[in-house]
Amino acid sequence: MDVFKRIFMSPKNQDLVAEIFLHYVLPSFNAFLITGITLTTAKLRLGQGLHPGWCYFFPMQIVLNWVQFIRNRSIVPTSPESFPGITSKLTFNDQISLNINNQEVRYKACHPCGMYVPIRSHHCPYCRKCIYVLDHHCFFLGYCVGRQNMKYFVMFCVYAALGTGYGVYHIMDVMTYYRDVSGTESIYFFFPFILVMYIMERAAGFEVYYVFLIDFGLGAIIISTFLASMGTFSVLNGSTPYEDKRNIKVEEKDGMVGNFLRVFGRHGLLHLVFPVLPFPEARVDKGYTINYQYNQARQGYYTNQDC
Ligand SMILES: [Zn+2]
Ligand SMILES: [Zn+2]
Repeated sequence: MDVFKRIFMSPKNQDLVAEIFLHYVLPSFNAFLITGITLTTAKLRLGQGLHPGWCYFFPMQIVLNWVQFIRNRSIVPTSPESFPGITSKLTFNDQISLNINNQEVRYKACHPCGMYVPIRSHHCPYCRKCIYVLDHHCFFLGYCVGRQNMKYFVMFCVYAALGTGYGVYHIMDVMTYYRDVSGTESIYFFFPFILVMYIMERAAGFEVYYVFLIDFGLGAIIISTFLASMGTFSVLNGSTPYEDKRNIKVEEKDGMVGNFLRVFGRHGLLHLVFPVLPFPEARVDKGYTINYQYNQARQGYYTNQDC
């Protein structure tokens, strides 16, 4: 038991287990489900003499949007310059306003990152980074959804819902040859049941596989439709769930078109079909390193601005 504790409960290993689970296990399950549905649907369509084109179009969109999602993680970069303008009396939780080129820019201190970060960024405890305009941490894709990868996230969800729906429809079509979905056999479409039936040798292996794809596919359709709607709402509304929940006023809010263009870029509509485009990504504002100093009089560490 002690050995077990030493190996699995040490903070370093706990971090590692959390890291693996958060960033790899769920995303791998996703990838497996997408691949399974794609290849099975393509095989079924080819078997029926039909063109499998859409079977590859959807996964291509899903994979490319996923890659783009991870490539543009919207982590607030650290500026090599020092914080512009010294301000006095900045305590740990204060916000700070600066006038840069006649524009008011607001910052706040993030102590885990040791940075002054743009006001709309938030620290993600799973990624351990400050993310610019953090929408939420997405467990299914493994990383945070922020300003830059928001559009890829929304398109991923849209195509995941469409592609999975397309696949589940075809697999269901074949599965209903073997089991009557409207009668008493409908319970065979419930994954744990068919798994037990398979172990008892009353169902075939391929049925277990098909029902796995159908059940988890249906779940994926519901989740991705929900997430796509939430994401679209965030984009058009111009604020994040974090800000909505706390009634934080967002200054860069425009009309729906303006909000859409800010996230998707000027050629935004092209992103609906092309995940990879040669246009620059949305801007991610920089953060500035906090220089901590020990303040003898107050017996504690304060930022350089505070001393
Ligand atoms: Zn942070
Ligand atoms: Zn995160």
